[in-house]
Amino acid sequence: MTTHSTDPIVAIATAPGRGGIGVVRISGRDLGALIGRLFSSPLTPRHAHYLPFNDAAGNAIDAGIALFFKGPNSYTGEDVLELQGHGGPAVLRRLQERCIELGHDLGLRHAEPGEFTQRAFLNDRLDLAQAEAVADLIDASSEAAARSAMASLSGAFSAHVNALGDRIVHLRMLVEATLDFPEEEIDFLEKYQARETLTGIQDDLRALTRQARQGMILREGLHVVLAGQPNVGKSSLLNALAGDDIAIVTPIAGTTRDKVIQQIHIQGVPIHIVDTAGLRDTDDTVESIGIARSWAEIEKADVIIHLQDARSRSDALDVAITSRLPARTPVLEVLNKTDLLDRLPGANDLSSVGSGQVGSQDSDTPGDHGTHRASSQPAIAISAKTGAGLDVLRQKLLDIAGWNPGTESPWLARERHLHALQRADEHLAAAAEYASHNDQVLDLFAEELRLTHDALCSITGQFTSDDLLGEIFSSFCIGK
Ligand code: GDP
Repeated sequence: MTTHSTDPIVAIATAPGRGGIGVVRISGRDLGALIGRLFSSPLTPRHAHYLPFNDAAGNAIDAGIALFFKGPNSYTGEDVLELQGHGGPAVLRRLQERCIELGHDLGLRHAEPGEFTQRAFLNDRLDLAQAEAVADLIDASSEAAARSAMASLSGAFSAHVNALGDRIVHLRMLVEATLDFPEEEIDFLEKYQARETLTGIQDDLRALTRQARQGMILREGLHVVLAGQPNVGKSSLLNALAGDDIAIVTPIAGTTRDKVIQQIHIQGVPIHIVDTAGLRDTDDTVESIGIARSWAEIEKADVIIHLQDARSRSDALDVAITSRLPARTPVLEVLNKTDLLDRLPGANDLSSVGSGQVGSQDSDTPGDHGTHRASSQPAIAISAKTGAGLDVLRQKLLDIAGWNPGTESPWLARERHLHALQRADEHLAAAAEYASHNDQVLDLFAEELRLTHDALCSITGQFTSDDLLGEIFSSFCIGK
């Protein structure tokens, strides 16, 4: 994408497919000429005009609402025209092409993904964290994630980042002033309580990082693979975990048609579950492609649930499955169908892989597991049928995700933001180290403060490379 292009752009802004209405959106510095060609009379900004949308021969392609936003008071900060017609793909495509036809000599072209929002960013309508929140709000799969994305979009996250940045700038100004007037450079750190201020900033930065980490979990969720032999209850477990939650299937590039990924939510945290029902040797070409994709998903998993029948765990097939799982990924051994056991499994029964059949001495209940077991990989006893043990499993998944319901997650965050916060933390630590040398290295202290500020500014996009902008906006949908 040409990052700073100012050509007028057009796109169908509503989702592909059929809907009650559909919107074609145009943005450009001055859309007056184009509007004059589209309609016989001028449009009053921010007024709904019901008008025919005609083709070159003067026949109506559709009739609908034209809405004009005069820049800079628009989404992009430029002139924006929205044509709301009937939401059919053919109608909208014809409408879009008619606009291109009429605006061709004005430079009107199809918008790149995210180009409207990118312009909003470049024209200071949104900062970068807010612009990212636009995409996150659209992608949000749970109410909790949508709420947090909206908070980010309205600037809550940016406000905290900026407030921290202001405090750093203030401290830095004091140091720089001291450096400029060396005769006053007497006990600067003491005089301005610089160390205490720095510690306060460090504490607040860490609190912000904790919240951002929670926000990232809410955005990214956890990728879980459900591995196990046929009939151990994988589908039943998926349904039981989903409960009333309507599973929204998130299409992941390349797997859209396989639908191997289901999404459920636990406390609003998206859990993407890959069901590996197809994992077996096969001569069938089509099936083997599907299986290869399942294994590819397994490679990307954050955690693997190895589901087994509690009555026959760790048989040869389970051992074979275990041996193929990537060693670096945590595996949760889960024993299902405990309702069919004569007695509930005890601690020894639940110890890690390969401990064989159920049926030894003690009388721990499934709910007790994990609290007093020596094994590093204690199994979790459940019944997908009765729901026993599912809360423990859910909690375990949230633990692995790092989810802490006690910590508020007021906004969504991305890995990029976390890295920036970590960088800021490292520079603050370096500044603190210099501060421990009293006033001897104030220039280095000031430099670390500057670098901390730069790291924070990269979140809101004050200093951001074109490459990064391209990367961020190209992952948006067209028309946004
Ligand atoms: P999958 O092939 O691994 O997906 O297994 P399914 O979920 O299709 O389950 C296989 C069979 O086991 C079905 O008849 C289920 O009703 C049954 N089943 C699954 N979980 C349980 C359980 O916890 N208890 C009992 N009694 N039956 C279960």
